[in-house]
Amino acid sequence: MFENLSERLGGVFDRLTKQGALSEDDVRTAMREVRVALLEADVSLPVTRQFVKAVEKKATGAAVTKSVTPGQQVVKIVHDELIEVLRGEEDPGKLRIDNPPAPILMVGLQGGGKTTTTAKLAKRLKERDGKKVLMASLDVNRPAAMEQLAILGTQIGVDTLPIVKGEDPVAIAKRAKTQAGLGGYDVYMLDTAGRLSIDEELMAQVEAVRDVANPRETLLVVDGLTGQDALHTAQNFDDRIGISGVVLTRMDGDGRGGAALSMRAVTGKPIRFVGLGEKMDALETFEPERVAGRILG
Ligand code: GDP
Repeated sequence: MFENLSERLGGVFDRLTKQGALSEDDVRTAMREVRVALLEADVSLPVTRQFVKAVEKKATGAAVTKSVTPGQQVVKIVHDELIEVLRGEEDPGKLRIDNPPAPILMVGLQGGGKTTTTAKLAKRLKERDGKKVLMASLDVNRPAAMEQLAILGTQIGVDTLPIVKGEDPVAIAKRAKTQAGLGGYDVYMLDTAGRLSIDEELMAQVEAVRDVANPRETLLVVDGLTGQDALHTAQNFDDRIGISGVVLTRMDGDGRGGAALSMRAVTGKPIRFVGLGEKMDALETFEPERVAGRILG
């Protein structure tokens, strides 16, 4: 994650560190490079501007007074500012799933990793939190997707709601709720249908499901490699459905990863988890410190 951005910022600060004192001009020059690095990493323009301005202000005032080198000083300011921008929830992995059976609604575009993430999260809830979890696929247009969830369920030892042909998503959501209550489940997860792009039909369907399920958590699963598109998707889903958090997938890939940096600032929604591979264990809670550390190298 963030390899390019990390190298880029690293280069900037290596140059800074070699210099003695840090003048306003030095800071400005360095910040220009930081700005380019962030934009190239696909961080959104308003976030980049805001970030650079904040760092510039703190760096120019602070550099002369402290005993550390100016380079170290700026690195620390950038580090702290990165954490500030990245931070969402105090404990992003803690889901609001008291009062069983608690519904979790999984939303997103097709191919973003929604079904995989539903299973990964179910496994995590079962193994870490000792929860009894029921998963249900609402993707009635793609029988393969419904079967995929059932196969993953078998693999991780988590129950899935039996597939009934011809049922619509709202009816499935209702049946999942009933089944979760009767079966003594702590959590039931609704894996909604995805489309290749956001459209009215998709949103209306997810909205209808949301209204019957009244989810405690609505998690948007979005491909972290799609940069600005991930932000638009998040914004759209939040406006229409209301999301409680984001799961960024494919953060194991070598993309630029700027979406992570912009997500909180642009959408106001916290990143809760990151997907780091196709395996069922490849899901981690989002940790700003670790990401900031990686950016700075
Ligand atoms: P959905 O259409 O949103 O339900 O997407 P799927 O869950 O079917 O995922 C699409 C593909 O992406 C599958 O091949 C997954 O194994 C893969 N995938 C999902 N999450 C990750 C991830 O975090 N990293 C990588 N490398 N692949 C992922």
